[in-house]
Amino acid sequence: MGSSFNAAEKVVVVDVGSPPVSFSVPEAILCSTSEFLKAKIKPEWSQEGASIQIPDSPADAFSLYVNWLYDRSSAINAGVNMVMLASAYVLGEGIMDTAFKDTIIDIMKGRIFSDKHRAVLAIDGVDIVKTIYEGTPRGSAARKLLAHVFAFRASVGDLSAAFDSAPKEFYYNVALVARKPVDVGMSYAFLDTIEKCSYHCHQGKEYCYFGL
Ligand SMILES: [Zn+2]
Repeated sequence: MGSSFNAAEKVVVVDVGSPPVSFSVPEAILCSTSEFLKAKIKPEWSQEGASIQIPDSPADAFSLYVNWLYDRSSAINAGVNMVMLASAYVLGEGIMDTAFKDTIIDIMKGRIFSDKHRAVLAIDGVDIVKTIYEGTPRGSAARKLLAHVFAFRASVGDLSAAFDSAPKEFYYNVALVARKPVDVGMSYAFLDTIEKCSYHCHQGKEYCYFGL
């Protein structure tokens, strides 16, 4: 009891972005799901009183992350746009937070596959693709989701709008999905019944953020 109380009281400063914006977060909250942040506060990796630096991520993505750490159910509302969600996913990749990444990708998946948000590909498709391809490695779950979305949900206009600025690898991945829909088990019907863990990075059901 005593040690958890002390951990909750200790505040860690995280400097995010460039120029940096400082966030002060109780250690126990900050380090609840991120492997990167857990490692950073270990004595052998940190100097006493030093802040943690995350220069490559935008401060508003980290702000969203901190809100999510405090309140997982309502931190990410309809006001958070798709480009910001992509940016948050990239942050989750960088700080190695599987629960956060899986949460974000489910929201992205829900919006992209709903007819209500159909226009998102035309409006933000290029920026979403660029953000995910610049910030996640080959084979990432987010790249996989985008390949499925563009292969099965995008219009010709959506694809051509992205053509000049999206990376070649993106089109390659879309083509791979689209050319063998039977082999990979993808179809409109399949997408309607897509499994809840389809784009999650965790191994095994017990680690799904749904159970946190
Ligand atoms: Zn899952």
